[in-house]
Amino acid sequence: MRIVKGLERYAVVSCHVERPLDDRVWSAFERLLERRPGGFTITPLLRPPHEAAGEDEERWLVRARRAAALAPLGHHTHWGGPTQARPTGDADPAAIVRGEAEWLRARGLEPRFFCGGGWYLDEPVAETLASFGYVDCSSTTFRQGYLAPDAPRLQLEGPRRVRLPSGAVLLELPATHSLGMLGRGLLRLPGLVHVHFHDWELADRRRAPAIAALLRLLGLLRHPLSAEELAHRAANAEEIAWADATIAR
Ligand SMILES: [Zn+2]
Repeated sequence: MRIVKGLERYAVVSCHVERPLDDRVWSAFERLLERRPGGFTITPLLRPPHEAAGEDEERWLVRARRAAALAPLGHHTHWGGPTQARPTGDADPAAIVRGEAEWLRARGLEPRFFCGGGWYLDEPVAETLASFGYVDCSSTTFRQGYLAPDAPRLQLEGPRRVRLPSGAVLLELPATHSLGMLGRGLLRLPGLVHVHFHDWELADRRRAPAIAALLRLLGLLRHPLSAEELAHRAANAEEIAWADATIAR
């Protein structure tokens, strides 16, 4: 069994960019990407534009290219439109991810990282992600209290190479903390820290400086890594079978 050693000194930060077309949210997020508080290259996981909701594709692409120039780009899917993160009804989650991944690549964007809205992940989605070469951030080390006990999701203790039924391997970099969890747990951090937040959390004028300050504190306690660097260091992470990985209990 190969175990990732030495990652406990590091931290990585990713952001679910759900409202990149909201000028106030975007400018606050762009500023944070540029300033790199704590030395963190924040991974922007961007939600592609939703045509049915009338979102402006051209403006979205300008902002996505700007994000890609500042950090390794990621992809975030809301399966039910801008405000519906997890799939509902008879949606085909894997087909939606495939459609978005192809749309992005047809426009010259090749995000390497992915996170499912509402932490949703199922086997067809995982296979689709592996087929596009994504590194997945849909897993968490903790359980979300608001999700039903049997809600599809993935809980892991740390970075793992998940062997899927097809034989493909999907590298998982689970989130360990929300901003609130980080603020409450700063003095008793576990090993590797992967903190995630949402772009709209920056829209509150008092909250944005608090987030930057929190990341600066984290940068004093853990060595900052980009998601690229973490993926590189986790390339030999322990392998686990998909069937054994899902902790939906
Ligand atoms: Zn989301």
